[in-house]
Amino acid sequence: MQKYDVVVIGGGPGGYVAAIRCAQLGLRTACVDAGLGPDKKPVLGGTCLNVGCIPSKALLDSSHQFERTKEHSDVHGISTGEVKIDAPKMLARKDKIVATLTQGIAGLLKKNKIEWIAGFGSLAGAGKVTVTPHTGAATTIEATHIIIATGSVPMAIPSAVVDQKLICDSTGALSFDQVPARLGIIGAGVIGLELGSVWRRLGSQVTVLEAMDSFLGAADIDISKEAHKCLKAQGLDIQLGAKVTSAVTSGKSVKVSYELKGKVENITVDRLIVAVGRVPNTKGLGAEKASLKMDARGFVEVDARFKTNLDKVYAIGDVVRGPMLAHRASEDGVALAEMIAGQHPVVDHNLIPWVIYTWPEIAWVGKTEQQLKTEGRKYRVGKFPFAASGRARAMDEKDGLVKLIADAETDELLGGHICGPNASELVSEIVLAMSFGACAEDIALTIHGHPTLAESVHEAALAVAGRTIHI
Ligand code: FAD
Ligand code: AMP
Repeated sequence: MQKYDVVVIGGGPGGYVAAIRCAQLGLRTACVDAGLGPDKKPVLGGTCLNVGCIPSKALLDSSHQFERTKEHSDVHGISTGEVKIDAPKMLARKDKIVATLTQGIAGLLKKNKIEWIAGFGSLAGAGKVTVTPHTGAATTIEATHIIIATGSVPMAIPSAVVDQKLICDSTGALSFDQVPARLGIIGAGVIGLELGSVWRRLGSQVTVLEAMDSFLGAADIDISKEAHKCLKAQGLDIQLGAKVTSAVTSGKSVKVSYELKGKVENITVDRLIVAVGRVPNTKGLGAEKASLKMDARGFVEVDARFKTNLDKVYAIGDVVRGPMLAHRASEDGVALAEMIAGQHPVVDHNLIPWVIYTWPEIAWVGKTEQQLKTEGRKYRVGKFPFAASGRARAMDEKDGLVKLIADAETDELLGGHICGPNASELVSEIVLAMSFGACAEDIALTIHGHPTLAESVHEAALAVAGRTIHI
């Protein structure tokens, strides 16, 4: 029986990163992954690379370029002929990016002398993992430490059963072979808004049905208001307080019924995307047989050191409670590997940035103003609109704002919130500052290049002290 120091079950950004860090630290490591690519061959990278972050960003980029060329060329004095989208070509580009990156992960495992074992891993008693390959007989391997990194899968709802033809989850929605004329989306969360943006930019008439009365409740109130305004102005029809009760396919369309303000409403769409969240994935893991403790929602229970109730069995990433984000999974993976090797790393979940890749982009880190109010903490706010940024104006990007929140007495940065161009990149400065325990004044005293979008972060920091220059 093969014996390893560490066996990682799952090869997504949690699992493969944990495996690499374990190997770097001198641990004999194997990574078991059940993933299959479009060609039905084993593939690494998990949700993130195959059907998540990367393909969605590829389509967001293609659709952004399409819309910019079509709608925003004229203002620059550029005239074009008819701007058309070749959807199959766009999808082929996305698939190529995914294939290149997943092959890259295989290369990284090889370089780090990690054994990649394709198949389903299941807990088979203390220190044992049984691997059932896609074809052939199961084998059992031994490990001193077992890391569960089996990720998450789209949440299913009985009112809209996914057939991946007319009613799709996020995976299906990354591969529509043509632009649907009418597209319905259930759920105005991160995934619903990103996928809705992709297909709206390409020409779909998009209706987003969201059960909650508020929009992006996890974001800071100023940011969610601004994002709502911008996305609505672009033509996303976002219906809040709309609870979907049924979705019935008939021929080539889907009739979606929902309750809104006590009344039953209906829309008919050509495609429907179910984007109501994701659930932890423990299917095939043998969790019950192994008596692995899980919470009521199916997340594997872990302590602050990623330990489950089973000796030397740990869990990280989407399969445990916390933000379902790739960088969180990877940071968990690195920290756990270092703990197994006897080190004492820390992951501060308060410093995990959130990013939504709509346009304008939405990104934040730390506490929102609502959270601070609830906590009764005294704070000061500094805001700066991109409309007052020279660089943003030069880019014809005047929507959005940067908002920084600092402790009223100590000036310690408590949160940074951005809705605007390149917010995904701009937020890193605030994350770094907060990681160093910086004050708003530290950013205010930092010289930023001119003209840059980052000057808006600088100005928001100046605004905390009431001395912004450009507004
Ligand atoms: P996963 O990536 O889900 O990987 C788990 C792996 O385990 C899979 O390969 C699976 O096949 C394998 N597995 C499961 N069970 C077994 C088993 N029993 N044996 C062997 N292998 C098994 N996050 C971001 O941070 N930024 C984004 O922009 C972003 N965009 C997203 C867009 C979409 C459309 C979706 C769906 C998700 C997006 N996410 C994004 C979320 C991100 O993909 C996840 O948070 C991340 O992939 C979680 O990593 P993980 O390693 O925990 O699990
Ligand atoms: P997220 O968890 O960020 O992926 O977002 C999923 C969104 O889907 C949440 O805002 C939910 O409120 C919403 N949602 C869940 N079920 C329904 C439903 N039946 N109808 C409309 N929206 C829903």
